[in-house]
Amino acid sequence: MVKFFASSFTVLVLTLTAVKAQTTIDINKYPAINQIPPTNSPEVQAWLKEVGDLSGAPSIPLHKGEPPACPNPPIPNECYWTCEGCAADDITACAAPNTWGLTFDDGPSTATPTLLNYLKTNKHSATFFLIGSNVIQYPDTVKREVAEGHHLASHTWSHHALTTLTNEQIVAEMKWTEKAVMEATGLRLKYMRPPYGDINNRVRYVLKKLGYIPVDWTGDAFDTNDWQMPTMAEDKVIATFTKSLDAYVASNKTKGFYCLEHDLNDLTVGVAQKLIPLGTARKINIASVAQCESDPQPYQLGGTAPMPSVSGVTPSATATSASSTGKPTGSAPVATPTAAKPNDANVESVGALSVAAAALAVAVIFT
Ligand SMILES: [Zn+2]
Repeated sequence: MVKFFASSFTVLVLTLTAVKAQTTIDINKYPAINQIPPTNSPEVQAWLKEVGDLSGAPSIPLHKGEPPACPNPPIPNECYWTCEGCAADDITACAAPNTWGLTFDDGPSTATPTLLNYLKTNKHSATFFLIGSNVIQYPDTVKREVAEGHHLASHTWSHHALTTLTNEQIVAEMKWTEKAVMEATGLRLKYMRPPYGDINNRVRYVLKKLGYIPVDWTGDAFDTNDWQMPTMAEDKVIATFTKSLDAYVASNKTKGFYCLEHDLNDLTVGVAQKLIPLGTARKINIASVAQCESDPQPYQLGGTAPMPSVSGVTPSATATSASSTGKPTGSAPVATPTAAKPNDANVESVGALSVAAAALAVAVIFT
């Protein structure tokens, strides 16, 4: 009997250890949450060595402010997207015709699981531009995103405007986020979205060295303004975006669009569930960045399996419908982008799932 209890206890301890290992990341191994990581840490020093010489980066003075004010006069050749709408080779539109490139920034948060439930029910796949500081707090949510066919991408470690950071700080922001997602999922991110859409040629140079592809959004018209809630009423958010969708439907739709949306809190997740049906009602397909760009390998490492197909994404059918509209060729409505609100959601540590799983393990052992 004693032996039985002793072995049961060992199993319990082992189970609890395993549960803990599956659901938590040791946040002490990471930089402070929502802070620009120091560049003199051994990890960042090793990454800088790996990246190599950054002296070829365009010499552009660092901007100031959060988000930065537009320089006046403009700095020649910086190609500053936020202020000039200059995108260089950033991705700004979904390559698939008649398609809404569904993206959510600033997560994961406590509101994300509700959004995932909605997307699962409606069989939509999205790209989540993750903040590294949030990833280490909600690794289970990130794992769930992958398991349910969504695509992960980077939104930096601390959500600071990248044009205000040094080249070395940009490396630290990107690599710590990459490490966190790698630890949670085994995937090395390939796409990124700059916080506030704040990107210029210096930032692009460093991102390219790290193997990242920037994805902006398709201009002001496709900023859902969800981040302005509750200052902006939900009705106004919906009405404004409805106009954008109607303008898109009336265009030739040869390219899709990327919207700006957030899984930041209950308000933004709530309005997402009202906006998406407005798109599907207009027969617009919904897709992640990986699907929009037909990228069979949307990670730098791992995830070589094709992304799951999503109902409603039928490129051949949409190509036919787009060409059969008979409308003259032209581009979708694109306006100068606005800066998005900083993520200031401060989130609590996970644990509920671990506790539930541990309770289950105890129940199994003692029944
Ligand atoms: Zn953001």
